[in-house]
Amino acid sequence: MDNEIKLGVIGDPIDHSMSPYIHAQFAKAAGLKINYKPFHVVESDLNEFIESFFAEGGYGLNVTLPHKLNCVRSADILSGEVELLGAANTLSKNNNNKIIASSTDGLGFIKDCSDKNIEISNKRVLILGAGGASQSIIPSIARMNPAKLMVDNRSPDKIEQLLEKFSSFRLEPFQQSDEPIDLLINATSAALSGSFDWNIHSQLNKQTIFYDLSYGKASEKFFSWASQFSRNGFDGTGMLIAQAAFSFQSWFDTFPDISNINLNNVND
Ligand code: NDP
Repeated sequence: MDNEIKLGVIGDPIDHSMSPYIHAQFAKAAGLKINYKPFHVVESDLNEFIESFFAEGGYGLNVTLPHKLNCVRSADILSGEVELLGAANTLSKNNNNKIIASSTDGLGFIKDCSDKNIEISNKRVLILGAGGASQSIIPSIARMNPAKLMVDNRSPDKIEQLLEKFSSFRLEPFQQSDEPIDLLINATSAALSGSFDWNIHSQLNKQTIFYDLSYGKASEKFFSWASQFSRNGFDGTGMLIAQAAFSFQSWFDTFPDISNINLNNVND
């Protein structure tokens, strides 16, 4: 087992994570021997866990909820995106034993849109939600030069915080108008607590593309709501796989083949 490359994902809870399965497929296709484990790490153990993992030969870690913000404290070097977001989902170690934090969610989202021919440039894009997932994709979407990039959220104070945080991007608060929305992105966890609804009906139509960052069963309520307008819908599975692929690339300098990853036979 010693020659296996030690990787893992940390979170609390962690049982639901599909990352071990996804990275095992990447490694198999790339001919790499990895040992990628899910680690249940509570907040109070976070920094100590990360330090010992790398001190004991760990090669790379993915970071999921609720540690995406606080894991940054354990890093010596932050990528530009992590500086901007204040959050990371990938940790690695360089040749000088320094821990590097990076964020691949935004790259994963853009890659999945590109693979699905979802256009962003010159389109009107509305993101619902102002939490970690919404924030992680805002800069990447803004760099694609949408005609308009808007955000809406249940708690209005968080919209204000986002506009301030991303003031260098042309992010706008959503306002009712007669302008149709081309791409609607659900970055909320609203469907977990009941049926999904959002007061934007008059701006949605058959051409609107609906993208839910949630995936599998968790996206059913969003798509049941969206089906009254359009059948153009994608869940977050592609983004999940693509963000993992960018993590893999940050560790091994090679972008894995993602075309044959099928998560339908894995439990969420
Ligand atoms: P956060 O907890 O950081 O944010 C949750 C967001 O959902 C907030 O904007 C919150 O609004 C909103 N919300 C929660 N409940 C409701 C409700 N009942 N009605 C309206 N809005 C609500 O979560 P994340 O941003 O980390 O995750 C959001 C989703 O994105 C999750 O489903 C997650 O699985 C998915 N995700 C997918 C990824 C992928 O690779 N596909 C990657 C990361 C996340 P408020 O501010 O008012 O509380």
